[in-house]
Amino acid sequence: MNCYIPENLTEALEIRKKTHAVPMAGGTDLMVQAKKGIGINPAFKTPIMIISYLSELKGIKVEDDGTLVIGSLATSSEIADDERVFYPIRKAASLMGAVSLRNTATIGGNIANASPKGDLPQPLILLDAELVLSSIDRERMIKVDDFIIGAKKTVLQDDEIIKEVRIKPVKATHYFYHKIGTRKANAISKLSLSILADVEDGILKDFRASSGASGDKVKRSRDAEMILIGKPISEIASHIDEFTSAWDRILSPHAMPQYRRESTRRMLSDFLIKLSEGAEPGIYE
Ligand SMILES: Cc1cc2nc3c(=O)[nH]c(=O)nc-3n(C[C@H](O)[C@H](O)[C@H](O)COP(=O)(O)OP(=O)(O)OC[C@H]3O[C@@H](n4cnc5c(N)ncnc54)[C@H](O)[C@@H]3O)c2cc1C
Repeated sequence: MNCYIPENLTEALEIRKKTHAVPMAGGTDLMVQAKKGIGINPAFKTPIMIISYLSELKGIKVEDDGTLVIGSLATSSEIADDERVFYPIRKAASLMGAVSLRNTATIGGNIANASPKGDLPQPLILLDAELVLSSIDRERMIKVDDFIIGAKKTVLQDDEIIKEVRIKPVKATHYFYHKIGTRKANAISKLSLSILADVEDGILKDFRASSGASGDKVKRSRDAEMILIGKPISEIASHIDEFTSAWDRILSPHAMPQYRRESTRRMLSDFLIKLSEGAEPGIYE
């Protein structure tokens, strides 16, 4: 097996262009995918490039205009512990696996792996997060929602590396995040839902939701959201059925469809009822 260990991002991008070596960050997905059995070394079919030392991909910062920039090597623990990170991302990161996993698993790996059950793409898509993809020849930006095109499928080119995740400031008065897993530690999502609402002077100025583990990729419907956006809070209750039915139509869960559809509908309805009853701004779970 060929394994490259570049010392900086430029070297990494040159290796990536020349060899198409697969980037390995925390290795928590890659090592499992390549494993051959207990006590046997993982067998990689392609060259591997260990990127976990690259300082250019590390850290979390907030730019002058409020844009949050999360390096692709930021671990779930770093994200969960950073108060500057928008609530649903922080919460999702805090519920990933057990603490040892959270100390190793990176945001870049979670996005590039593109599992429909991966926890971070869901709140990232809620917040319209964008990725910076670097190659030796160019840099481009793309929304996470456009980067992941299906289960385990992305538009990452074989000379590119995810450099960072960028999220512009979002106005929100109410947040909701809930993940249903099988057990507390190491529970892969059965279902997850994030909601963001911005209420100003009794009007629902913004409303977004995103559903994880409910289809081949994270589900979000701007059309359904438009049913509620701009409505007075006093009218929200009368639109709940229309909204939840529209939301239900975008879900395509392949396992336990009834359970996933019913749970999602109930969580959305409960949140909207609270909102229509004048719920205080804050975080709901
Ligand atoms: C026991 C266990 C429990 C788990 N629990 C959860 C859970 O609760 N929730 C959850 O979402 N996931 C879970 N996972 C899956 C995994 O830990 C996450 O997907 C993790 O975020 C992957 O990050 P990584 O750095 O380890 O990725 P790696 O394994 O290093 O890489 C994964 C993929 O991403 C690519 N990649 C990595 N970094 C980059 C980059 N910067 N640019 C381009 N491509 C890149 C790799 O080439 C590979 O294809 C679990 C895994 C295990 C083994």
